[in-house]
Amino acid sequence: MKTFKCVCGQIIYFDNTHCLNCGERVGFDPASMDMVNTDLSGHQVCHNSLKYNVCNWVIEKNESGPLCKSCRITHITPNLSTIENIKRWRILESAKRRLLYSLLKLNLPIAADPVNKHPALGFEFLEDQSTNPLVAEEYVRTGHTMGVITINTSEADDVQREITRSLMKEAYRTPLGHCRHESGHYFYDRLIKNSEYQSSFVELFGDAGLDYEAALADYYSNPPRHQPEAGYISLYAHSHPLEDWAECWAHYLHIIDTLETARNANIIDSQEDDWIHDWLRLSVILNELNSSMGQSFAYPFVLTQRVIIKLRFIHQVAGQLPPS
Ligand SMILES: [Zn+2]
Ligand SMILES: [Zn+2]
Ligand SMILES: [Zn+2]
Repeated sequence: MKTFKCVCGQIIYFDNTHCLNCGERVGFDPASMDMVNTDLSGHQVCHNSLKYNVCNWVIEKNESGPLCKSCRITHITPNLSTIENIKRWRILESAKRRLLYSLLKLNLPIAADPVNKHPALGFEFLEDQSTNPLVAEEYVRTGHTMGVITINTSEADDVQREITRSLMKEAYRTPLGHCRHESGHYFYDRLIKNSEYQSSFVELFGDAGLDYEAALADYYSNPPRHQPEAGYISLYAHSHPLEDWAECWAHYLHIIDTLETARNANIIDSQEDDWIHDWLRLSVILNELNSSMGQSFAYPFVLTQRVIIKLRFIHQVAGQLPPS
């Protein structure tokens, strides 16, 4: 993510709603991919910003309100009668906007394509009984079906998420990670399935048609030991070729967004074609910086040659470049 500038010259950040220097209201305009001063530019602020303070995007000039491009694709929000749920929703929308920024920047398609029968990308943020006893659904599974990404709102609760992360023996679990991972399933359907990338996919990740429910049941009843030399980015990537793909897709988005942040801050100065090399260098620095602050590693993963080959393939797919 890059930084932006207010008309007064102050640096403003992607999540800001106001300039800290001049106090003007600012918001992100997905049409120009820039932060704008809303009064000066004549943009309408998203209704979810004014009413719930969960959004800081503006409505594009060619769209009529009340919601911005990001909020329009949230189909279900948690029950908003409690402050806790609004807080959780705010965290999830913020992660979703960061995902959308990357997807828009990569020019990836998220609108429906009726000709090829691809649904639009959408989101549902659902709670279950563990966070709200009044909700009928016992357990909401975070996942992706037919273009809709469902995220259990308990993922926005630090305590709940840390308990799950620890139980699942995961190195990393965040709302942004969920958004990025689940978008991988959407783009598998949209960009890989029945496409010219299909044979490379099978070569690198395996057969996507492998019985999904059986593979996941086997993974949970008999979790493997994570050994980086096996060529998987994470433990969960072992579970099924589609999960391996989605994990690598999420990492690709982590990497390109973090590299943009670092380039913008002049921490690295090379060009984009060196992205893997830059990432290997930057991720070590990130981890060392975190260690200096007594925090755990920011990027607790090992990129083996096999994983790097998978990431390079994703770079081709995300850039919609011909397969090599
Ligand atoms: Zn300002
Ligand atoms: Zn909005
Ligand atoms: Zn998945």
